[in-house]
Amino acid sequence: MELQMKAPEKKVTRGQVHCPMCTHSVSGEVEYTKRWMKVVPGQRCERCGSSLDVAAVLYLRNAA
Ligand SMILES: [Zn+2]
Repeated sequence: MELQMKAPEKKVTRGQVHCPMCTHSVSGEVEYTKRWMKVVPGQRCERCGSSLDVAAVLYLRNAA
């Protein structure tokens, strides 16, 4: 539990992620703070169906 930690505000938006399996850019949900961003775990590539847990975030679609 991390309830006592002062967690930075975390947001989730749609973005482009790079699937390492089929090497295509696919859309996925990305969670981010001011310090980092990463793919929301548990998603699957819409092209090849592999896990996107290790995919790299390319950019956020709704980045401010
Ligand atoms: Zn893929």
